[in-house]
Amino acid sequence: MDPLNILFVSAEVAPFSKTGGLGDVSGALPRYLARRGHDVRVFTPLYSKIQTDGRDFQSVSFLKTLSVALGGRRYRFRIFTAPLPKSDIRIYFVDCPALFHRPGIYTQNADEPVRFALLTHAALLSAQSMGWAPDIAHANDWHTALMPFYLKWVYAWDAIFRQTRSMLTIHNIAYQGVYPSRMLGDVTLADRPELLYREDLEAGHFGFLKTGLLYADAITTVSRTYAREIQSAEQGRGLDAVLRARTENVFGIVNGVDYEEWDPAHDRHIPHPYTADDLAAKKQNTEALCRGLGLSYDPRVPVLGIVSRLTAQKGVELLFETIPQMLRWRDARLAVLGSGESHYEEFFHRLQADYPGRVVFWRGYNEPLSHLIEAGADIFLMPSQFEPCGLNQMYSLRYGTPPVVRRTGGLADTVTLWNKESGQGTGFLFDHFNAEAMRWALTYAMDSFADSAGWERLQKNGMSEDWSWEHQILEYERLYARLAGRPASA
Ligand code: ADP
Repeated sequence: MDPLNILFVSAEVAPFSKTGGLGDVSGALPRYLARRGHDVRVFTPLYSKIQTDGRDFQSVSFLKTLSVALGGRRYRFRIFTAPLPKSDIRIYFVDCPALFHRPGIYTQNADEPVRFALLTHAALLSAQSMGWAPDIAHANDWHTALMPFYLKWVYAWDAIFRQTRSMLTIHNIAYQGVYPSRMLGDVTLADRPELLYREDLEAGHFGFLKTGLLYADAITTVSRTYAREIQSAEQGRGLDAVLRARTENVFGIVNGVDYEEWDPAHDRHIPHPYTADDLAAKKQNTEALCRGLGLSYDPRVPVLGIVSRLTAQKGVELLFETIPQMLRWRDARLAVLGSGESHYEEFFHRLQADYPGRVVFWRGYNEPLSHLIEAGADIFLMPSQFEPCGLNQMYSLRYGTPPVVRRTGGLADTVTLWNKESGQGTGFLFDHFNAEAMRWALTYAMDSFADSAGWERLQKNGMSEDWSWEHQILEYERLYARLAGRPASA
């Protein structure tokens, strides 16, 4: 198809900034779109934690003196660019020290909505200054969800955006950016309150994501099952009715995996690269993982791995009962990497104290260790309560580490139940969100591990699956083409 101009805006872009899947997707999708010939320009904040030293960061001469008035204050910003690794594109970083020079990516500060309203304005103002007309403006999650509104009602006067169609991707509907109505003026919504949800305003608040859902030309989320789930009262988090009203424009596209980063054959973070034909080398990673973390290593004993934000979403509750019970009855090791809510962290700290040498909890964020756990663990645990897409289960498939997952969202779309009779399937799924169901799946996985021939088949089934961006990108292209009124071709 003819190349498109795609403006892509996100609060996180890996490898520069990342707290979860949003960063991964924003670092990968533009790269693969660019390889298909599209002109993709990605805008993201220049957080103070982004290391600019030693990297090729350049200030853009004609984007040095920009500003936008939000509320009663005028914010000045300038744009830097740096190359996105393994691509020909440069990322545009919005440098606004007043808003982005904070210790973390996200804050609990009162001006949090202002930070991301500025990012969204900065992307549109920069496109104007570049004289560059986007065909597609692609916003991600609540942070940039005001983009469709701004395009339709704030920047509509500018012919440069006349052809621009907006897409809003929901990576997680649990985060909606809901703020008190008195802040409308701080994020350029005060002039047109009649265009917002009246009931919300009467109740004293408004939502970034909800506003985006009203005005985006297309709404996508990151798996087909999640697209269906969020249109139900149980999982819509109060936005299901809005989504149902727009159901014709709601699409589910599973995230791709960046196999350049996540493939055991050439993973720079693991000591022993391996392929499906050489699973003995995987065992060496298991040994390295155990020795590195202080777990006692025994090749016959399965190592369970978890890499996760520790929030209720990830189903940590289910582990409270199942894991201690399993450790009492059977021999297993457990390596956990993550951080989050304190009661979850305390649970893993306690578990480590109760089972020295059998359980290790590495609290925090650790990119290399996340790769080593994928490679070294035998079984990956991801019993999420809900999961828009989930990346770790797809990584674990590629690393020959069959996942135990709950059948929800993207997990349901990417993992199939192992059937030892037919030799089909890639992992272990359970339906109900309770300890009994999880125990069943975990026991099934542990029993299957004991049958080494069957296990190898199961590993190879997962390793041979293709969840690459090369594949998934075609679905985005088709949708972009449809929005832009272009004929789609393969
Ligand atoms: P979510 O976006 O809900 O956190 P995903 O499975 O979609 O879940 O993506 C999580 C991403 O963040 C994966 O790349 C995973 O490896 C990474 N990740 C999560 N927690 C950590 C951690 N503590 N250390 C390193 N990487 C982590």
